[in-house]
This record gives sequence, C-alpha cells and structure tokens, in this order.
Amino acid sequence: MSSTSIVIIGAGLTGCCAALELAQRGHRVRLIEQDDAPMKRASLRNEGKIHLGLIYANDRTLATARLQLRAALRFRPLLERWLGERVRRIAVSTPFDYLVARDSLLGPAQLGEFYAQVDAMYRAEIESDASLNYLGLRPLRLAYALGSGEVPAAFASDLMQGAFRTQERAIDTDDLAVQVREAVADRAVAGDAGIELLTGHQVSGIERTGDEFVITGREHGAAFRVTATHVINASWERRMGIDRMLGIAPRPGALHRLKYRVICRTPAALADCPSITIVLGRYGDVVIRPSGTAYLSWYPAGLQGWAPGVEPPRDWDSPCRGEPAAEVAARVAEATVPALAQWVPALAGAEVLQVDAGAIVADGETDVDDAASGLHARVKSGVLSQGGYHSVDPGKLTSAPMYALEAAERVDRALRGGAAA
Ligand SMILES: Cc1cc2nc3c(=O)[nH]c(=O)nc-3n(C[C@H](O)[C@H](O)[C@H](O)COP(=O)(O)OP(=O)(O)OC[C@H]3O[C@@H](n4cnc5c(N)ncnc54)[C@H](O)[C@@H]3O)c2cc1C
Repeated sequence: MSSTSIVIIGAGLTGCCAALELAQRGHRVRLIEQDDAPMKRASLRNEGKIHLGLIYANDRTLATARLQLRAALRFRPLLERWLGERVRRIAVSTPFDYLVARDSLLGPAQLGEFYAQVDAMYRAEIESDASLNYLGLRPLRLAYALGSGEVPAAFASDLMQGAFRTQERAIDTDDLAVQVREAVADRAVAGDAGIELLTGHQVSGIERTGDEFVITGREHGAAFRVTATHVINASWERRMGIDRMLGIAPRPGALHRLKYRVICRTPAALADCPSITIVLGRYGDVVIRPSGTAYLSWYPAGLQGWAPGVEPPRDWDSPCRGEPAAEVAARVAEATVPALAQWVPALAGAEVLQVDAGAIVADGETDVDDAASGLHARVKSGVLSQGGYHSVDPGKLTSAPMYALEAAERVDRALRGGAAA
C-alpha cells in the first residue's frame, strides 16, 4: 500500500474531515492549503446552520430536504468520530423560529404541509438507525406552527403571516474551526500515518502522467511540485477550475455567489431568544449563539457578487479570507442591521464586531425570489471520481462530513485493493 501518495487540496471542513478519516485508517495524507491555517474560508464564515431541510420547501420533490436531513443526522456522529470529546466544545445556537414574510413565496399552509412531510421523513430515518442524532438530540418533532399569541414578543409580528417553531440549530463556526484545527494537528504524521499539513501552498496546476498526478503551485512566492496517486479536490469555489485542468467539464448552470455576514454583540434582550430564519425569499437570518454574539445576514445587503461559470473572480479572495474592503464592510453592516431590526427591534443599534464573506457554490440562473430558480434545489452535490481523482462538492456545511467520508472511503478502498478507484 502506497500510503504516502494521497493529496487533499483544500483544508476546509471537507478536506480536513477526509484527511482525518484517512489518517485514522492508517494512511499518510498531504493536506494542501493556500491559507496559513485550515478552516479560514467558507467553513468558518458561514451561518453554521445544520440544515434539516426546512428551508428547501420550494423543492416539491422533497429531494433537497431528504438529502439535508440525511446529512444533518450524520453530522454530529461523524464529527464525533474524528474529533472525539472535542465535539462537546462546539457551541450550538438557540433553535430557529421560521417567520413567514407577508410576501413569502409559500404561505403558512403550504409550509406547514411541507414541514409535516419533512417530519415524517425524519421519524422514518431516526427510527431506522439508533446511531443517528441531530446535534446530539433526537427530538420527537422538527417543526410546528405557532399560534399568534405564541410568537415571541421580540419579533415584529405585523411583518409576518405566520410562524413555526423548529428544532433546527446552528453550530458556532469559530468553535468548529478551533476544534478541527486541533484535531488535524493531533494527527500530525507519526511513522507511516497521519496528516502532513502544507499551509501557504496555493495549487495552480494539476496534470495526470501515467498513474500519477503532478500538482504544482506557489508557496510564499516560490514554485512547488508534489506528486500523488490519489487526489481529493476539496477546494470549494476553486474546485471546478482545478477539475477542468484534468478535462472534467464544469456543471452546466454552476453559479458562485459572494455573500457577506455580520457578527454583532447580542443585545441583552435577545440572549435567550430563538434564532430566526425569515422565509421564503430574499430575506435573512439572525443566529443567537451562546458566546454572546449573533450572526446576522440580510440577503439583499449581503449578496455582493454573482459569478456564473467555473470559478469566481480573484477579487473575492480578500473578503473570503476575512479581509473585506472597509467601505464594503461598512455598507453591508449599515444595511443589514436596520433591515433585520425591522423584524427584531432589539437589534437596532447592535454593536457590529466583524463583517466578512464567503462564496456559495450552487446551480441557478435566477435568484431565490424566483420560485423556479435552481437555487431552491441542492441535490447535485457529491463525490465525482475519475481514476484516482475525487472531486468533492459538499453542497453545504451540513453535508461536508458525509461526503468527506465517502471520498476517503473511495481512496481507502482503492489503496487496499491496490487499484485506482
Ligand atoms: C455566507 C454563507 C453562509 C452559509 N451558510 C450555511 C449554513 O448555514 N449551513 C450550511 O450547511 N452551509 C452553509 N454555507 C455553505 C458552507 O459554508 C459550505 O458548503 C462549506 O463550508 C464548504 O466547505 P469546504 O470545506 O468544501 O470549503 P472551504 O471551507 O471553503 O474550504 C476550501 C479550502 O480550500 C482552500 N483552497 C481553495 N483553493 C485552493 C488552492 N488552489 N490551493 C490550495 N488551497 C485552496 C481554501 O483556502 C479553503 O481553505 C454557507 C456559505 C456561505 C458563504
């Protein structure tokens, strides 16, 4: 078994989980990352919601909800497999209330029907496998409608036509990043197994020569070159660009969106308040985290880039690294806080602590306020394998561990069988 020839490109949640799985199986893995540490891009700068599928009510086939639900029920068990006790140090938000906007694409009756279907899928899944849980819990029900007297007084009920209480929660992505980095460091190469983390290495070329892949790029201004018999591409918004170098055509309709988030100090009045998602259209979210900070996102203000095709422009890199242009950050915060304060008045004047962005990779030609937009269906994610090369589109943070496991299993199988998968 050649255990020194596995390269993973990208140390976000997908790449780190795949590396941890392969290291646990006794392989030696090179994990190549352009930044100075793992977990500094989308897996850090996202909302952290572990999706039960409730937001995908406009995919009437239920395929997106089924996929997200499946992934959500495996998220924590898989993290526990790789992080062990560390998983307990990842804080979880208050549960989400879904507030139905007056001009929502779907009304409360249609949403209620959809949530009942998701609930039924949830019960079937959880009853079939005792190892599954949702962030450590196995709630009886995922969502129910709130009567008008039950909507928390913190929310502006005149803006909504209904509300649902759900079991959905978000994890604190700062905590996730710390625990994943430490788990990767704990698995540093010892003997023939473990993770060799190469930070500051930006991959710019890959080619296949016989049974090997030659991966090239820049490391702090100098050229580097490594070879591998097995490659996992987990580079998220750069994934299709790297795939294309090996002749793998990008998915038609692929779309990259640059979305900003605002982190503020949670106003005292909201400390125990449910988190909220406003449905269904170009609205936003407020995530109340135990750390005393809240994640704010208001779609019309946060959406600052729209790039169809193989990969987004390079100028997205700075905000995605946590270094947005000051004027853009100020503009996003100035629009986001008042917009959400209309829904949650206690947010007015909230102290903004941080503004940054991430790239969202999905399929779609029109925006989320179009009921027919491809953005309402997220089922094209997964692992594409071609002779020792595995390109992982995790789709969401929720499904990153599930697909990382699948990619690692394919590599492991191939190495144990002595053939390229
Ligand atoms: C604003 C926002 C909110 C979101 N909210 C949610 C949510 O609530 N729930 C949910 O489930 N999902 C959410 N997502 C989606 C989620 O963040 C992503 O699906 C997930 O983080 C992708 O993980 P990843 O490891 O593939 O990507 P990343 O975490 O981006 O990791 C990719 C890594 O590859 C590295 N890399 C890229 N190119 C190269 C190269 N050429 N050479 C070397 N290294 C390279 C990058 O530096 C990075 O570290 C959100 C995304 C955004 C942007």
